[in-house]
Amino acid sequence: MSAGKAGRPRAAKSIERDLVDVPPSRCRACNSTRRADYEHVQIIEGAGTDPQGRPYTAVELRPTRCLDCDQARMDRTWIYVPGDIGETD
Ligand SMILES: [Zn+2]
Repeated sequence: MSAGKAGRPRAAKSIERDLVDVPPSRCRACNSTRRADYEHVQIIEGAGTDPQGRPYTAVELRPTRCLDCDQARMDRTWIYVPGDIGETD
């Protein structure tokens, strides 16, 4: 923390950042975001379109459990790597 005048340090570059919200996974039963550690994470390769219409090239499945109500669930993340569309040549 600088005790000097406010503002960005001279050497810092001005980077225009996109602001992206990354919500934690959440229990459907009680809304808690507290969960047990993931076990046996799976990554399934395969290209397609996710439920929100965005392209994906793999799906990550992470079994967990709510720490507040003990509901088991699968956390699912749609991964997209441009150029990794699984083209056959
Ligand atoms: Zn819960």
